[in-house]
Amino acid sequence: MSSNERAENYDYWQLALKIHQLNEIGSMELESSKLLMGILQSHGFNVTERFMDIPTAFKAERVVGNGKPSIAFLAEYDALPGIGHACGHNLIASSAIFSAIRTSEKITNGTITVIGTPDEEGSGEWAGSKIIMTERGAFKNIDLVLGSHPGDQWNVGTQSLAVQDFEVTFKGRAAHEAANPNSGRSALDAAILTYNAVNMMRQHVRRDANFVMHGIIKEGGTASNVTPERAVLTYGVRSTDLNYHTELVERFMKIVEGCAIATETTYSVKKIGLLFSTTKINKILSNTIRDKLLERRIDCPPLEYTFNEMPKGSTDFANVSQVVPALEVGFKIAREGTPWHSRESLEAAKSSNARDALRTIIEVLSDTAKEFTENRKLREEIADDFNKR
Ligand SMILES: [Zn+2]
Repeated sequence: MSSNERAENYDYWQLALKIHQLNEIGSMELESSKLLMGILQSHGFNVTERFMDIPTAFKAERVVGNGKPSIAFLAEYDALPGIGHACGHNLIASSAIFSAIRTSEKITNGTITVIGTPDEEGSGEWAGSKIIMTERGAFKNIDLVLGSHPGDQWNVGTQSLAVQDFEVTFKGRAAHEAANPNSGRSALDAAILTYNAVNMMRQHVRRDANFVMHGIIKEGGTASNVTPERAVLTYGVRSTDLNYHTELVERFMKIVEGCAIATETTYSVKKIGLLFSTTKINKILSNTIRDKLLERRIDCPPLEYTFNEMPKGSTDFANVSQVVPALEVGFKIAREGTPWHSRESLEAAKSSNARDALRTIIEVLSDTAKEFTENRKLREEIADDFNKR
């Protein structure tokens, strides 16, 4: 790092551009996390590297006044393999770091924490690190979690899909397909039967639960004259209803078992990655932030509208929202309808629109945090709303 690139000299926009340029994929964000820690340190935060034993995670904390309440901002800084920061996590990083710094300047009491959460996109060893952190109790002493995510619209209270990925392996018996077909048992047959049975299940599921199931046949044999003795499928099972998701997985397992019996093959099932939860929406918190956006003449749809929109994806932020009042605010950096994880969103993540939206989101999040520290009634209402869901 040259002298004019010293951490303390970074402002919110230089930081966003630098993370965009560093372009580090999930679980490998070494330089990015180092830079973020350096900036926080230079602003009086106490930094813990390798938070929760995750190499590119960190925790940075600054206590103001009596240290209560406790608010955490979550930073993401992983790029997408191959394309770069096309999900705009460079902006999430800057938003979290500078919202925390601004909050610590605005408040008289509170503990402000930034948690660096690697690999949201799930490309490496620490995929979905927020889930690991949630399970290890990282949010135990935190009263409020704030985050943000760039996109093609401003929004609060978007629902996300629970998702679990699976790998199913069928084992059959190899044989010469012309000379001894009677002694062969095809693992590929089991895989195709499974694929078709899953498609038949689609008609008989709850329509309101946003059931999505996507799968491929990854391996299906080696030569056409040899009975395939091994076939591998991978599937993702998603829904906006966590209990129903469990039911759907059970039905999927019955399908796999049934297809193995029918084809006289054996099978094994492996979970891939962690279970991403649905988002627990906090209405009070969502509306508090929406009011702040409306005050700034920013068009943000009402919660009832957003909540009923079709959820598009899954995020490990959802798991955090299940254990502590939390909200990830969507901020608009591109025209509506812009496809994400694309060349367009890659450019949008370093555009002047992004710079303006980033400045706004930093002010909105730090104003929200300030209000939270000062307004006991708001804190109680947010906690009540969390506990009754
Ligand atoms: Zn993202």
